[in-house]
Amino acid sequence: MSDTSPLENIPYQSPLKPVELSLEDTIQFRCHKDIACFNECCKRIDILLTPYDILRLKKHLKMSSNEFLAQYTVPYEMDQQGMPGVKIRTADDNPACPFLGENGCSVYEDRPTVCRYYALGLMSMRKEKSLTDENAYFLVKEDHCLGHNESRTITIGDYRQEQCVEQYDEINREWRQLILKKRSSGPAVGTPSVRSHQFFFLGSYNLDGLRDFVLSAGFSEIYNLSTEEFEPLKTDDVALLKFGFRLLKQVLFGEMSIPMKADATQTRAHRRRDQIKADAEDPNRNYEGPEVI
Ligand code: SF4
Ligand code: SF4
Repeated sequence: MSDTSPLENIPYQSPLKPVELSLEDTIQFRCHKDIACFNECCKRIDILLTPYDILRLKKHLKMSSNEFLAQYTVPYEMDQQGMPGVKIRTADDNPACPFLGENGCSVYEDRPTVCRYYALGLMSMRKEKSLTDENAYFLVKEDHCLGHNESRTITIGDYRQEQCVEQYDEINREWRQLILKKRSSGPAVGTPSVRSHQFFFLGSYNLDGLRDFVLSAGFSEIYNLSTEEFEPLKTDDVALLKFGFRLLKQVLFGEMSIPMKADATQTRAHRRRDQIKADAEDPNRNYEGPEVI
């Protein structure tokens, strides 16, 4: 296999078994509350978050995107070009997950994708000459995890269902494709601008910021959404997240799926001129939305 782009969900320093598993393959594994190692895996974490993970967690915690991102995440660069990612933040002196409570995971119903998949690692990859990405699964065997000694066997397909990861994967699918596309385009499209990274962050992780933009005058000057398409974006977080992925594809790669107003090019040119002027006057001013890309 070549020309593949491994993605995320590989737990920290994974003793990942280098055997690609399919949905029909069987693993021997069971995790439960009475196991001697209960919570050991949450005491030293390095967990990458997907957009849908953040949506679920911030809702669970009744926080705004900005509050959640500031309190519970730390940024990292997903690739050499500086594509922004976020991880769960741990204390400087304690690598345990901040959601680990006395009785286990305090956000269990909304735990992130990585936690659901464990003890599997997931990679999204696009094989050579293939137009679509595929998931590949790998077993992760860590010494402290006794779940591998349990007698239960289960197929990867059934394990995914048991852990309810299908919904997470379905919602994040377009985002994963976007990352693969961005990576595979590589240096051919030049070094991404700071603005494009800021926009990627907004569309991926800051749902409330995205909603503010979509409801702003600047958005309606450029984009031409029907009422039917626009109204759900006001209240439906999943619809907004999926719309954000389309917006990212349109702005970053020119994949046009969102109708634009006839004079959008002219409006954008004016905005860009104003933005360049404002940037020159205050380079540290806040990012205002993708019309400035
Ligand atoms: S069996 Fe593995 S995944 Fe389950 S609690 Fe123990 S260390 Fe964590
Ligand atoms: S979110 Fe829950 S399951 Fe995941 S590492 Fe934290 S405490 Fe453990």
